[in-house]
Amino acid sequence: MSASTVAFVLTVPHRVCAEHPQGRHTCDTLAVDAAEWLREWLLQLGATVKGPILGDVSRTEVVDLNRRESRGYEWRRDLDSRLVEMLGSTPYVFLVDVHSFDTGAPWTARAELEGRPRPVLAFLNDRKFVNVVGMPEALRNALPGAWRELVSVGGSPQNDIVARAREIGVRWSVLIEFSEAEARSDPDWLSRVTLTIARAMLGITRL
Ligand SMILES: [Zn+2]
Repeated sequence: MSASTVAFVLTVPHRVCAEHPQGRHTCDTLAVDAAEWLREWLLQLGATVKGPILGDVSRTEVVDLNRRESRGYEWRRDLDSRLVEMLGSTPYVFLVDVHSFDTGAPWTARAELEGRPRPVLAFLNDRKFVNVVGMPEALRNALPGAWRELVSVGGSPQNDIVARAREIGVRWSVLIEFSEAEARSDPDWLSRVTLTIARAMLGITRL
């Protein structure tokens, strides 16, 4: 199929930086930039793109929009409606849930312990929750040698935007995490890696 028949939906649920009682990584500081780059490249490659749809909760609400308990919130319900509406006009919807991680991410700590290079991308791939077969392989093949620090970790039922999209009937849905540290150390990295990912995602739709 041609690129223009695939409708990409980009979501950034964690762009709101709220105080978190446990002092955790509370917002994804690189995710909006990453989603905007993805949008730019996908459009240039001829795809249809909606979003980035930025997470929105009121200041008094402490809820993670990527968790099941947020399904009743307005932002989640609105996302459901948009997806259902899009599926009415094309069966080829590809949801990309965009996140970023800091050095405290578990896969970074694990790589350090095992003496492996610092991961720059995390791709949550579990057939139960992520219905993009072949995506890690496509990315690994597309990434130049220096960018192979890609981790593919199992999805979790907590990745609820991806899980919900699958329930609704979205054909491809995936969660991607970008390294904030990598973007700080190399200003061009984000634009390069998002182009690679955009091409790999379009490649997947032609499988
Ligand atoms: Zn996140």
